[in-house]
Amino acid sequence: MSHSILTQWESSTQYKEAEHLPDIAFQVHVLRQAGLNITQASLMHLNRDCLAPDLSNLFILTDVTAAVEAFGPTVADDTAVMRQLLIHSNPPREGIGRHCTRPYACPYYYYCWQT
Ligand code: SF4
Repeated sequence: MSHSILTQWESSTQYKEAEHLPDIAFQVHVLRQAGLNITQASLMHLNRDCLAPDLSNLFILTDVTAAVEAFGPTVADDTAVMRQLLIHSNPPREGIGRHCTRPYACPYYYYCWQT
């Protein structure tokens, strides 16, 4: 079986585990479920020490394979929950809270927080 490498690109200047790991781990999970043999996962981000006009070190590649493998069971569990939510005709009854803005603001923030 051939091996595949996942490289995610971000405009960030560093790897932020809480922000990037769930996303990368989910992508690896999906690709593996689709039959790809992902053996390495990395984040490509910007190098804040890069100075123009020399752009030879504009990007930094951070290997996050070990973190992705450790996070894998969480992704599988979360995916199973999400699949269950999708078969319901009504949205979940989760109230507003910290999850509305972390790690990103939800697009429905202003709607839900009106009252
Ligand atoms: S703002 Fe988004 S995350 Fe928060 S309750 Fe509304 S839909 Fe859910």
